[in-house]
Amino acid sequence: MRIVLLGPPGAGKGTQAQRLVDDLQIPHLSTGEMLRAGQDAGSELGLMAAQYMESGQLVPDELVVGIVDQRLQQQDCQNGYLLDGFPRTVPQADSLSELLQQRSTKLDLVLELNVAEEELIKRLLQRKRPDDTRETITERLQVYQKQTSPLLEYYSTRGLLASIVGQGTPDEVYERLREALQQHSDNT
Ligand code: ADP
Repeated sequence: MRIVLLGPPGAGKGTQAQRLVDDLQIPHLSTGEMLRAGQDAGSELGLMAAQYMESGQLVPDELVVGIVDQRLQQQDCQNGYLLDGFPRTVPQADSLSELLQQRSTKLDLVLELNVAEEELIKRLLQRKRPDDTRETITERLQVYQKQTSPLLEYYSTRGLLASIVGQGTPDEVYERLREALQQHSDNT
């Protein structure tokens, strides 16, 4: 299965992604984690990305697409993967579609975690990541609305989108994700 997990910061993508990849036995490809790893390693790419991440902005498309392209070439991605935090812009989605075409593959499903904004802010303020300050949170939510939410229509038009209510306990949300996956496999 090739799956994209979509949703605003604070929607619970990380938690749910971990459960999905454990169950489905596919690699978890989180661009946020890849970028943070690059930063920790002090690589040139990582340092370049850091300035954007610290202010809540998106890292330039070419940089992220390059990282994903490299990652998809690795052996463990041959039988599927879960993309978490990518694509985040329409140009990234177009690039992903090209990367998939080059490999003669397609996405199976795009899962959206939908959570109300007040709840997102509450959750993000509880989290203790260095880029989770009140200013960057507001900025990241705006960036999501402006640059990422158009992907909902993008994928819905292509018949790939399943929207899931991301509120409730992690177990409840996971149950809904499993149902969406089940429905998808019933229809194919
Ligand atoms: P969150 O879900 O809280 O936004 P992530 O770990 O997915 O956290 O991303 C953290 C930061 O990494 C983002 O704010 C952005 O600066 C950068 N980033 C991650 N993925 C992408 C991407 N696909 N395109 C551009 N920037 C990205």
